[in-house]
Amino acid sequence: MPNQPLTSLFRPEILAMSAYHVADASNFIKLDAMENPYGWPEAIQQAWLEHLKDCPMNRYPDPEAKALADALRQSNQIPEQAGILLGNGSDEIIQILQMALSSDATVLAPEPGFVMYKQIALSLGLRYQGVPLLADSFELDMPAMLEAISSLQPALIFLAYPNNPTGNLFDAKTIKQILAAAPGLVVVDEAYAPFADASFMDQLPHHPNLLVMRTVSKLGLAGLRLGFLAGDKSILEQLNKIRLPYNINCLTQETARFALEHQQFLLEQTQTICQQRTEVLAALQKIHDIKAYPSSANFILFKTLEKSANAVFDSLKQQGILIKNLSSQGGLMGNCLRVTIGKPEENQAFLAALQYALNNTP
Ligand code: PMP
Repeated sequence: MPNQPLTSLFRPEILAMSAYHVADASNFIKLDAMENPYGWPEAIQQAWLEHLKDCPMNRYPDPEAKALADALRQSNQIPEQAGILLGNGSDEIIQILQMALSSDATVLAPEPGFVMYKQIALSLGLRYQGVPLLADSFELDMPAMLEAISSLQPALIFLAYPNNPTGNLFDAKTIKQILAAAPGLVVVDEAYAPFADASFMDQLPHHPNLLVMRTVSKLGLAGLRLGFLAGDKSILEQLNKIRLPYNINCLTQETARFALEHQQFLLEQTQTICQQRTEVLAALQKIHDIKAYPSSANFILFKTLEKSANAVFDSLKQQGILIKNLSSQGGLMGNCLRVTIGKPEENQAFLAALQYALNNTP
């Protein structure tokens, strides 16, 4: 019998980490995870089930997911000369990118940002440096970014465009400055591209160190777990060596191809979500004690000015509404909450519950 706990075999950085937490959402109006709230039209669902009958479940899927990769290239206007690498969600791409780095590499990202950039860097024992965004505008703090780039020489920089959890698109000029100053790779993470009217995809041919990452999750296919990276073929060729074989399962390959062929209904849902975003933002901006930030994504960040965000979050939960509480992150996120845009009736329920929470929180 070992005389030490077996967990002591693991690296100290793993023991020090917390697992990625996902709140139990059963019986809640779920507005916490940037999902599309709509299901599939009945006729499309029937056609999809019919289509899946041809999925050979006894065989491994196409290891390169070629047909799906071609469909993604087309629907995302990936430039001809760029390559594409598919992942089990863009989370897996973030992991593949960082696994390929040397052990003394530094990963850099503005903060607040998507938590998995840091979580994965720490789990792999890499150095991670967050650079605070400017307060209120949530733009990149360029003197601080350029200073960090020059002193730390990061091998990899993540820029979410639009950013999660702030919802804004960083000024494109500043991103180009970062591309020029960076000694390594710059990933522009376009997870929220379906809701934004800006992209760096067409910039790929002009910047050899630019990689553009996207996901189908926010478009309405979060259950599939499918993300991809577009960029220089020679870089993707190396990353492809550490991608696990068959990382895109057969059901995902076939369902994603089917969904892309029928994507009109997803695009319509996305339009409705953008219209609802305008309405929810206007309603939030009318509420005294709330500062709500404009968003180019399918969520809105807001801050309580007098009441405690923790108390408001708890009251919303008691009223059956689950959003995301960011206040424990502190810094710029003190008293901040993030709500995902839902169906019109869910948004109305959220706004009513929020008003109740603000009126009844001491
Ligand atoms: N990037 C950003 C900025 C995100 O907010 C998220 C999900 N919240 C992801 C990537 C991960 O997406 P996926 O579902 O493809 O793993």
